[in-house]
Amino acid sequence: MADKMTERACTVPETLSGLRAAASQGRFPSVLLLVVARGEGTPLLLDLAQALLCPNAEDLVACGSCPDCRQFSSGHSRALWLLPNVSEEMAQKIEPYGPEAILKDVWKVATPPPSAQIPIGGENTDPTYPMMVAGVRGLAGRLAMSEKLNRVVLVPFAEQLNQASSNALLKILEEPPDRVYFLMAAPAAERVLPTIRSRSFLQAVPPLSSQRVESFLVSRGVDAQAAREAAARSLGRPGAALALCSPEAREARKRAIQWIELCRGRDAEAAFSWIQESEELSAKDRRPSQTLLETALGELEERLRSTTDRPEIEALDALRQSMEKALKDISNHAKPQMAFVASWLGAHA
Ligand SMILES: [Zn+2]
Repeated sequence: MADKMTERACTVPETLSGLRAAASQGRFPSVLLLVVARGEGTPLLLDLAQALLCPNAEDLVACGSCPDCRQFSSGHSRALWLLPNVSEEMAQKIEPYGPEAILKDVWKVATPPPSAQIPIGGENTDPTYPMMVAGVRGLAGRLAMSEKLNRVVLVPFAEQLNQASSNALLKILEEPPDRVYFLMAAPAAERVLPTIRSRSFLQAVPPLSSQRVESFLVSRGVDAQAAREAAARSLGRPGAALALCSPEAREARKRAIQWIELCRGRDAEAAFSWIQESEELSAKDRRPSQTLLETALGELEERLRSTTDRPEIEALDALRQSMEKALKDISNHAKPQMAFVASWLGAHA
């Protein structure tokens, strides 16, 4: 198999050999539930879906060049999505990789055309974010048409299926139409309703090797240097690694490193004017300040892992504690600017 092909579809872990074997023997599970870290399900579902639709797929890797593969990147007529129906704003509040974001730039995949998305009713303002039963009924109608080729139904947020939708879906899953593959993902099997779970082939998804994450990033247009760095920090999670390469994430990292350096220095005036001038700390929305602290904490973890020097470990650890406290304070509604001031003072106590 050509290297290029392996690289392109590298979010299917090497260790999923059971699924690969099943696919090559024509007994791929018709209802698959992947248990995978948040934010990691969609890239994997996309790669599996493309492999199931590609007539030249080998070992669960699509060829990448046939008409089906070419169609896939702009929304395939035999791929349907079951997505929760919420506004973008609401989606981001609940889940940073919400349905509005999953198909956008982070995975460099075009939003599926409206005809490929199952209509799931009107605007849902319920923060529990359930999939609407109407959408699932629409799905039954779409699948009733017979089709000689493989079809896929992607459910990247299976944990969001509510009772009514699950019941409607269950009717389809009890007797899945021929050559229809349900590809679902959830962060934990227990979060999916037992009725759906019991119909599914459960598959835990292990992390990828750092090299596979790196080549995945390169195949998505990330430059080699940035790919290597992000892969090393991603703990084998390609979705997280790709998110780390976004301009926003790179900016957040730059700012986090500035803050760490200020906390390690003694110049209170410089630190306080940095706090005062930071837009993310004065924003009404607390999330940018939390992201900044989380990024700084990640950076500290990495520095802690790569040093054996006692005084350095103690200094980094004290800094980590003061930042963890600031993060907690902000979640408890403290003003971000005040929490940062307190954290600087704490680091110098
Ligand atoms: Zn193909």
